[in-house]
Amino acid sequence: MRIDIITIFPEMFEEVFSRSIIKRAREKALAEIAVHQLRDWTDDRHKTVDERPYGGGPGMVMKPEPIFKAVEDLRKKFGKGEVCLLTPQGKRFNQEMAQDLSGNKHLYLICGHYEGVDERVSEYLNTREISIGDYVLTGGEVPAMVLVDAVVRLIPGVLGDKDSPVEESFSEGLLEYPQYTRPEEVRGLKVPEILLSGNHKAIKKFRDEMRLKRTQKRRPDLKE
Ligand code: SAM
Repeated sequence: MRIDIITIFPEMFEEVFSRSIIKRAREKALAEIAVHQLRDWTDDRHKTVDERPYGGGPGMVMKPEPIFKAVEDLRKKFGKGEVCLLTPQGKRFNQEMAQDLSGNKHLYLICGHYEGVDERVSEYLNTREISIGDYVLTGGEVPAMVLVDAVVRLIPGVLGDKDSPVEESFSEGLLEYPQYTRPEEVRGLKVPEILLSGNHKAIKKFRDEMRLKRTQKRRPDLKE
């Protein structure tokens, strides 16, 4: 899978994409991630990417032309791919969408800033609009990192067996069972006896029950 990110803050991504599972996916060539500076597609001396909004109002709006040029140029070099615009007004991102996106060969992610992006960007590029939640962040960089992290770990082969996503929260519409590690007792709190029994059938039954109970209690909306 290839992901091209268009942003005015490419430096923000370096650390996040060079650690842990994303690092591993890149090393195994299962994910190729490139981060591009939008200002490289401006023509003026100041590399302007924003302008005042028509109709008045506070703040600045991201100009459409540099974004069009960036996508067109990258598409010429790297091919067609779905263009996603990170926006609080998009469809809310969840595990199902992450799963769906992980099947794509190529994604372009556009990170907005300021008051957002000129409306004609989504019109002209026919973007898929994605929100990471019902709150407003300063820019699309953190949402793009969230999306890439959630999507890349689902690409087949990225997670080894030991950290397989099969029983993770949100798979099968359930939260995961509670996890414990050494020691068996800490501050008077004990690991449930059944997990020490070595009885795999009984452990599976316990965990399945815990998944259901926990989901019912914490996220009844998921269980629906
Ligand atoms: N004025 C916009 C509105 O009210 O819908 C919000 C603009 S926000 C301050 C600037 C940029 O941050 C957006 O263009 C988008 O790229 C990104 N952003 C902010 N919140 C987001 C969210 N919940 N999901 C995805 N992107 C978000």
